Amino acid sequence: MKKSIAIDMDGVLADVEAHFITWYHRDYGQKFTKKDLLGKTEENAFPKKGMVKKFASSENFFRSVPVMKGAIEAVKELQKTYDIYIVSAAMEFPQSLVEKRAWLDQYFPFIEWKKIIFCGDKSIINTDIMIDDHLKNLDHFKGETLMFSAFHNVNFTHHKRADNWQEVLNILGSR
Ligand SMILES: [Mg+2]
Repeated sequence: MKKSIAIDMDGVLADVEAHFITWYHRDYGQKFTKKDLLGKTEENAFPKKGMVKKFASSENFFRSVPVMKGAIEAVKELQKTYDIYIVSAAMEFPQSLVEKRAWLDQYFPFIEWKKIIFCGDKSIINTDIMIDDHLKNLDHFKGETLMFSAFHNVNFTHHKRADNWQEVLNILGSR
């Protein structure tokens, strides 16, 4: 039987970090780089407070987020060896459900709908492996964890880290 992997969307398949930077520049006129955000939390990443939640609640935010570099090819490759599930805690922003589903249909049409899990709390997830950028999801996971690098997790070392999708393949692809 194939081992199963739960793959997160925001910060893993979808480059929300780049998207926040683009929208922040558009709405507040200030241009940040990914380097500027390193080590910050999502709440204090930008000077204007509450904008992360504001953008995440905005129409079209999740529908127009860019794909993380290398993600499409890597997920296709992993699908040969693993049972792949896309797992996103999307309930906090209900309008994101439809947009995330449409986004997946556009960029990951090879993932069938039965393998898409939109949930509230990921502690219910019981796959063999989880790829995620958030400690709140990884810390309580019972299986093997892989932390996808993001500005808010650079200072944590208690999960195996992958800086990009090539590194994910290097770690999981050769088994
Ligand atoms: Mg995430």
